[in-house]
Amino acid sequence: MAVKRFVAGAVCPRCAEMDKLRTWRDQVREYRECVQCGYQDAMRLDGAAEPQELETRVNQPVENSEPKLATEDEQVIQFVPNPAKK
Ligand SMILES: [Zn+2]
Repeated sequence: MAVKRFVAGAVCPRCAEMDKLRTWRDQVREYRECVQCGYQDAMRLDGAAEPQELETRVNQPVENSEPKLATEDEQVIQFVPNPAKK
């Protein structure tokens, strides 16, 4: 249902890769995800504070695996440069 669009010029806050962030939204929130490292976050469209439950559910699995994944991603990037990168 949701259309995911890449955000031109956006830099991932975790892996710092450009043009890897996709964004989409539902009635309540706008979501972002990084196709390079799996980073995800969500932001309410009305600007209200996120319920703590959602923050935990969205962020925890990603953060738990962050150290290992980040290292592996860096190595992969070195051996397989992204052809789309300017
Ligand atoms: Zn990333």
